[in-house]
Amino acid sequence: MSSQDPIKIMAELLKSGAVMLAETCPVEGCNLPLFKLKSGEVVCPLHGRIHVVKTDEEVKEVYSRAALSMLLEKVESTAIRAIDSLISEPDIDSTEIIKWLEVLERVARLKIIAKKRNIP
Ligand SMILES: [Zn+2]
Repeated sequence: MSSQDPIKIMAELLKSGAVMLAETCPVEGCNLPLFKLKSGEVVCPLHGRIHVVKTDEEVKEVYSRAALSMLLEKVESTAIRAIDSLISEPDIDSTEIIKWLEVLERVARLKIIAKKRNIP
């Protein structure tokens, strides 16, 4: 895309119904205006798809999503390790195993919710 004339690409974008935004491309030295496609995606004529973080709310949202998925990974691996050691014990404590299985179930549910929130 970089070998193409950005003005031409901008014209194509406008023709396709994209809207020019007040924000500019965050890539250093670019500063071209960003375009919002009909699909809701924000693109730079040179750099393609750009994720724009506009407000504090959105910064928080992006951060909490990353923190949440990191936390879920940790909880999941802890639960798996716990179950693994519980089932290798001579006296299997099924209540403990069930507790950890419930944790895994909740993690799975939260992962689905976290994924859904990814869709713009
Ligand atoms: Zn750019």
